[in-house]
Amino acid sequence: MDETLLMIPGPTRVAPRVLKAMSENIVNHRSAVFGKILKETNEMMSEIFQTENQSYLITGSGTAAMEAAMGNIVEKGDKVLNIVGGKFGERFMQITETHGGNPVELKVEWGEAVNPEDVRYILEEEENIKAVTIVHNETSTGVGNPIDDVGAIVKDYDALYVVDTVSSLGGDDVFVDGYNIDICVTGSQKCLAAPPGMAAITLNDDAWKVVDNTETSTYYLNMKKYQKSGAGQPPETPYTPSVSLMYAMREALNMIMEEGLESRIKRHKLAAKATINGVKALGFDLFAKEEVSSNTVTAIKMPEGVTDKEFRGTMRDKYRIELAGGQDHLKGNVFRIGHMGNITNREIITTISALEMTLKELGFDIDMGKGVAATEDTYLSV
Ligand SMILES: *Cc1c(COP(=O)(O)O)cnc(C)c1O
Repeated sequence: MDETLLMIPGPTRVAPRVLKAMSENIVNHRSAVFGKILKETNEMMSEIFQTENQSYLITGSGTAAMEAAMGNIVEKGDKVLNIVGGKFGERFMQITETHGGNPVELKVEWGEAVNPEDVRYILEEEENIKAVTIVHNETSTGVGNPIDDVGAIVKDYDALYVVDTVSSLGGDDVFVDGYNIDICVTGSQKCLAAPPGMAAITLNDDAWKVVDNTETSTYYLNMKKYQKSGAGQPPETPYTPSVSLMYAMREALNMIMEEGLESRIKRHKLAAKATINGVKALGFDLFAKEEVSSNTVTAIKMPEGVTDKEFRGTMRDKYRIELAGGQDHLKGNVFRIGHMGNITNREIITTISALEMTLKELGFDIDMGKGVAATEDTYLSV
């Protein structure tokens, strides 16, 4: 079994009991036995989304749910306001275009969060915006966007509010109903700590009204089919789901219920704080503005005088800790520490300690133990 510690923003390590759940034998996906598993898993998903809506599981990675969202509400020429402050914001815009939509891009500086007033300005100026897309936790930059404040604004306009919570759900506050979110999407392999390959989506009544009046541009991800099959007796998915991944998903969500969503989010918040304090004490600069830094991933500027290959390579080869690099123009300039899923104080303290040793070995003049002390203090201060 590979014991590398994954300190990356997905996929995250899954618990042995989740792996074990996947080794159960395959059942008929159109049977009462599977229907019960599907129903339980969907219901737990809705609880985690903090919504009264139905949720749907899709076999596919997080992007499948992003595509399901846009492919069911966008027709040729429809105007969509895409908030873009990183790689995943860009992806939502590209998916919008793929389905014939006409993006109105709100560009946000990478490393910063969107200013909700800029959203209001565009919604006032531009007519007929059918939907607004936002990424809650921009994994590429380590920024958490104010999806609550933006939701309070979008509510005053006749546009659907579509939110990507792929790298935040289960690790940060997401109240689908409370934030006026019309469509929310997520993936299995980030904070939910299930294996990669499952996505989830939830739509409220306003969203379904639009879906019902939209000519869908996707066959596999046609949400009306998911709705119809899901409402059957027993509940089903329209096409064969990954039965094994459904077992894993159910077990991972069971674990979230046992920990309690609130405690889990607190654990993530503390992990972010402990990481940030540790790296700052070592003299690193954060890439994202600290006031908007993410709860689940910390992006850090690569120190001068070391290459990404040396730095992350040493962490990987010598300490068996996997960190993430930068994406696009941030490649080589930024590295990212994921602290999502099952990550606890133990993993954070180990990571900061290995960071210190790596830096020292690579010739940096650092005070050994300073980062670890700051991390320890953070954990002991609560
Ligand atoms: C990981 C991620 C996705 C989905 O990526 P997949 O590789 O398709 O699972 C989407 N949005 C964000 C913010 C992500 O972090």
